[in-house]
Amino acid sequence: MRKKILVALGTRPEAIKMCPVILELKKSTLFKTVVVITGQHREMLDEVLKLFQVKPDYDLDILKNSQSLIQKFSEIINGMEKVVDCEQPDLTLVHGDTLTAYATALTCYFKRKAIGHVEAGLRTYNLREPFPEEFVRQSIGIVAKYHFAPTEQAKQNLIKEGKKSNIYVTGNTAIDALRYTVQEKFFHPFLEDVKDRKIVLVTLHRRENWNGPIESVLRAIKRIANEYLDEVSILYPVHKNPYIQSVAKTILEKCENVKITEPLDVVACHNIMARSYCILTDSGGIQEEAPYFGKPVLVVRNVTERVEGVEAGTLKLIGTDENVVYENFKQILENQELYKNMSKSINPYGNGQSGKQIVDILEKEIEKEEEKEI
Ligand code: UDP
Repeated sequence: MRKKILVALGTRPEAIKMCPVILELKKSTLFKTVVVITGQHREMLDEVLKLFQVKPDYDLDILKNSQSLIQKFSEIINGMEKVVDCEQPDLTLVHGDTLTAYATALTCYFKRKAIGHVEAGLRTYNLREPFPEEFVRQSIGIVAKYHFAPTEQAKQNLIKEGKKSNIYVTGNTAIDALRYTVQEKFFHPFLEDVKDRKIVLVTLHRRENWNGPIESVLRAIKRIANEYLDEVSILYPVHKNPYIQSVAKTILEKCENVKITEPLDVVACHNIMARSYCILTDSGGIQEEAPYFGKPVLVVRNVTERVEGVEAGTLKLIGTDENVVYENFKQILENQELYKNMSKSINPYGNGQSGKQIVDILEKEIEKEEEKEI
């Protein structure tokens, strides 16, 4: 009989990184795959599922923008309990560090159901940064049976924490997703307007950067935009959160060469990234995708769990101080030697076959278990 694998997801980045795994699972004759979404990022999630043609079996549709983290958590856990009771999965796969992943893992743990953690072992060892993601990752690591680590470094983190078995280095499924999104010919109104100016993609949304740091980064961006009016075009797709929308508009609204937009659909985001000069971000996923394109990234955070990209030289961790961000931004625009070195670094996050590797490992594991039962 086919083993049942439940896959839970709720946010845009989870969907981008889990759809390649779901598509591989669906090819396997050993598994029946059941997909449950929570709708943690409603529209942004639906758009990614449509792109990958993944149809959820359950849509908990439980999250509204104004809910607190705790309200969201309790709604997910209530909904997930019903799904797990009804489906009785042999294994549940969760991804990374979201509330959906955390609540699902906890539900499965209490029901003594096996959990597989995709993108396991990322750590800053600072429970405040990123918040609450670091806590979520560590917690899922405690209860997971299978750990799919994107890099050797992530595997070593898990080993240091005392995990002894079922840790596999598979690369990051973010790179798999790029095979579905990147197009040789791609048109977007922003690209038409840019002419020969350097494109800089900006994304800022991290919770720990709210109320202070984000304003300081935006002021640095404003200074650069004004100074390089004819040389640089900045695109800033702003997260839907009302606070971020408001600060972005207030600080940058008068900058002619800064285009503030709604979040980009993932195809536009990846293709514009591929055509950018550099990227300034506090996003996690973009720190993994940009090295694939050889695009330098200024990471406006104090700590990063994507240390491989920093070691490879593509990512530069610069914090959020206005003057430091301004100086680093200016340097990357002016210093061609630095720019060249950052752009030629290699991508440490895998070869785009991570989803297949995860499914191959699970198939072998299932076969081993069946042999034991005979
Ligand atoms: N992304 C997107 N549109 C945007 C901004 C980001 O499709 O306007 C994609 C990005 O390419 C990456 C993912 O969303 O794949 C990262 O999401 P986000 O930065 O929201 O979350 P994080 O990775 O920090 O959890």
